[in-house]
Amino acid sequence: MFYRLKTDFRLSIITLLGASALLGITPFAVMRFLQGNSLAGTVDLSIMLGIVSGVIYAWKTGDTRRSGVVLAVVACGGAVTVGTVVGEPGLFWLYPCLVTTFFLAPPRLAIFLNLASIVALLLLDKAFVSKVQMWSFAATAVVVSACAYVFAHRNRNQRERLEHLATIDPLTGVRNRRAMDEELELAASHATRNGVPYAVVLLDIDHFKKINDEFGHGIGDRVLVELVALIERNTRKADQLFRYGGEEFVLLLPGTDGVGLRAVIHNLQQVMRRHMRSPGGVVTASFGVALLQTGETVDSWLARADSALYEAKATGRDRIIYADELKAQTGTAANLAECSQT
Ligand code: GH3
Ligand code: MG
Ligand code: MG
Repeated sequence: MFYRLKTDFRLSIITLLGASALLGITPFAVMRFLQGNSLAGTVDLSIMLGIVSGVIYAWKTGDTRRSGVVLAVVACGGAVTVGTVVGEPGLFWLYPCLVTTFFLAPPRLAIFLNLASIVALLLLDKAFVSKVQMWSFAATAVVVSACAYVFAHRNRNQRERLEHLATIDPLTGVRNRRAMDEELELAASHATRNGVPYAVVLLDIDHFKKINDEFGHGIGDRVLVELVALIERNTRKADQLFRYGGEEFVLLLPGTDGVGLRAVIHNLQQVMRRHMRSPGGVVTASFGVALLQTGETVDSWLARADSALYEAKATGRDRIIYADELKAQTGTAANLAECSQT
């Protein structure tokens, strides 16, 4: 729970809004019912229910984009209703809403919601005791919105930049191990919920050190960049490639198993043999493949792919080894080389 709050900024804002709504609105709802103003009490209660439902939806589905928009609409609509029903004291509720919209909804929608809320309150006119108060409210509400917009915009840009720096491998442009860890966890929970098969391929360039030693790191780097381009050209959009470290890559293939999986990896091996070259000749790779098993952890899934890769290296390199067959064959001490008919 704390991990999700720490890593998902919008979810943390949504949760904060939910907690504030519960703590901040409950006393007013109770007070209004006690004062006999059941209309205002019901409005407060409806806003609270709307916000809490949005928070629960966000936590359950992970769809913080949609729930953020719904919460921004509920909060602004609620603040306008409260201002109209209880008059002057209700106006203050619009200010926190004007700030949070920019963190909950896309910028254009947030600007629209804020302006629409301010204009609605001005047109309804009931909340203000004088024209001076009305225009002071309008001016301060616009200033608060403008400041919130600038702050939220800068905050979003910096977050995106940091995320890019933290997850992208600068040499090849593919995502790194940190991003891979998150995607594998997501894949595992998606597989549990929807029964979609997922496969990981651990791919390691053969004798890469020799390329570096003989032709220099620049050539080694070029080989890595070319390999990434080649894999991306020969896989689907839904497949995800990560740099696991050094000259090792992980390919995550959703919705592929059996014959289809074998065909994809066999094809990758073939195109590498055909197109990957260094000044020293053909560049090949070894492949360890593991299908996610029911209820399996990500660590165990990767460990099985790693053992398969280890066997591919141990049995001659430029090979594909499937973890499932490896397990079946170790029991019968069968020849591991038969795992890959390549
Ligand atoms: P094997 O077939 O067993 O995989 O042998 P190998 O030589 O490919 O593997 P080894 O682990 O011995 O060497 C990997 C080399 O990859 C060592 C390291 O210097 C090099 N390397 C790691 N990252 C980079 C990089 O970003 N650029 C370059 N040019 N080399 C790198
Ligand atoms: Mg290697
Ligand atoms: Mg290696």
